[in-house]
Amino acid sequence: MKISVDPERCYGSGECVYRVPSVFTEADGFGAVIPGREDAGDDPRVREAAERCPSQAIVVR
Ligand code: SF4
Repeated sequence: MKISVDPERCYGSGECVYRVPSVFTEADGFGAVIPGREDAGDDPRVREAAERCPSQAIVVR
């Protein structure tokens, strides 16, 4: 399952980076998926990060 961060929604809280630093990173003050890690959507920690993102910016599909 593919992960992406909607830049229109993300406001850079950094919670996704804190929760799953192997998948998410900070780029110019916003959350982003580390290049090459877009397929990590089956990781339950990624699902939790998506559910807990305060702006619902993380998309897993
Ligand atoms: S948790 Fe959500 S709002 Fe915060 S940096 Fe990550 S994607 Fe952006």
